[in-house]
Amino acid sequence: MPFTSNRHFKRNPLFISGGQGAYYSTPEGKQVFDGLSGLWCCGLGHGRTEIVNAVSRQMAQLDYSPAFNVGSPIAFELADRLKQIAPENLNHVFFTNSGSESADTSLKMARAYWRMKGQPGKTKLIGRSKGYHGVNLGGTSVGGIGGNRKLFGSCLDTDHLSHTLLRENAFSRGLPENGVELADELEELVALHDASNIAAVIVEPFSGSGGVIVPPQGYLKRLRELCTRHGVLLVFDEVITGFGRTGQAFAAQTFDTTPDIINLAKGLTNGTFPMGAVIAKSEIYAAFMEQELPEEAVEFPHGYTYSGHPVACSAALATLDLYETDQTYARVRQLAPYFEDAIHQLKGLPHITDIRNVGLAGALQFAPRGANPTIRPYEIFRKCFEAGVYVRCGGNTIQLAPPFISEKEELDNLFNILSDVIQATA
Ligand code: PLP
Repeated sequence: MPFTSNRHFKRNPLFISGGQGAYYSTPEGKQVFDGLSGLWCCGLGHGRTEIVNAVSRQMAQLDYSPAFNVGSPIAFELADRLKQIAPENLNHVFFTNSGSESADTSLKMARAYWRMKGQPGKTKLIGRSKGYHGVNLGGTSVGGIGGNRKLFGSCLDTDHLSHTLLRENAFSRGLPENGVELADELEELVALHDASNIAAVIVEPFSGSGGVIVPPQGYLKRLRELCTRHGVLLVFDEVITGFGRTGQAFAAQTFDTTPDIINLAKGLTNGTFPMGAVIAKSEIYAAFMEQELPEEAVEFPHGYTYSGHPVACSAALATLDLYETDQTYARVRQLAPYFEDAIHQLKGLPHITDIRNVGLAGALQFAPRGANPTIRPYEIFRKCFEAGVYVRCGGNTIQLAPPFISEKEELDNLFNILSDVIQATA
């Protein structure tokens, strides 16, 4: 099983066999509140009939068609819809099937861009410590979670910015005050490697899997300025932050910072179908189109059997409709202060060393038990599931990302159970 303690699972399996609204159900018939929207992807809740119907209609009409040299109209329709909601100038879409594929696609795109611009030396990729960009080789290379890298030996040629977790920011509400200067580390990396060797910087606007690490005030803007000054592309991995988690379609909009490339997946289909996308600014698209190549030549030799899968596209279009008709982003903005108050009320419970939040996402960080930094979150996750709420354990944190459709009473119940479980955990 992926990212699972397989031996423990074998002895103590947990199963989910149904999902409706904000709840999962187990084979035994127990209801479990989905406190992480699946894996940060099902913000609209489970079993949405609009998506079910769209998918079943599309299956009947066209279940699959290849995207190499033949288009399906629905993929172009979806690309147009994404272009409409993306920040200005980000207006060309390439479809993938996952966040990991979006990461690798964006990194290849960045390197190819510089080669086409006559700067083939610009190949180095800069990630950030504690960052997560999926599990393919590019994403693993720029990723900054040690446990996800060490087993696999050397990866691609990368370097990393420091993460932005500062002790003085502990228990900040929303964007922490200190740490804008951490973006200046890019100057040091440029001094070390030279901009002529660097293709791109890739960061999550807030790090999700690393434990909801929220950018310090002004940090992303500073990073943007430095990337522009040094001629380095800026990629925002919005696989978690895209589609409402911060209260706007994209965190780029919430944080008022426009990257050169945005990576998407998860909420694109409300988690119902594997699909990802990379949205690039027009200069990048133009560089591919303006190569001196015969017209029948392939400009971007990259893509997947399932790029722009018509059924995935139908799920995505129905999902985008629901974000509009449910007025999802406004609802997240409305619920976020309630969520913020509730999560920060856990301060003072045993072993909690930090609480962080932004939009409808939050994390609780725990002190290690002896030398083991992950055991408490793991035990808390298991006990919460038993008690009827699903939350995620990741490293030394418990991570929360409730569905956008959550009611305040459901959030109260989530935090009450969490609080009881934390107090009962040694
Ligand atoms: N990028 C980010 C920021 C993610 O959070 C994730 C998954 O959690 C990925 C990429 C990888 O996505 P996937 O698991 O769909 O490959």
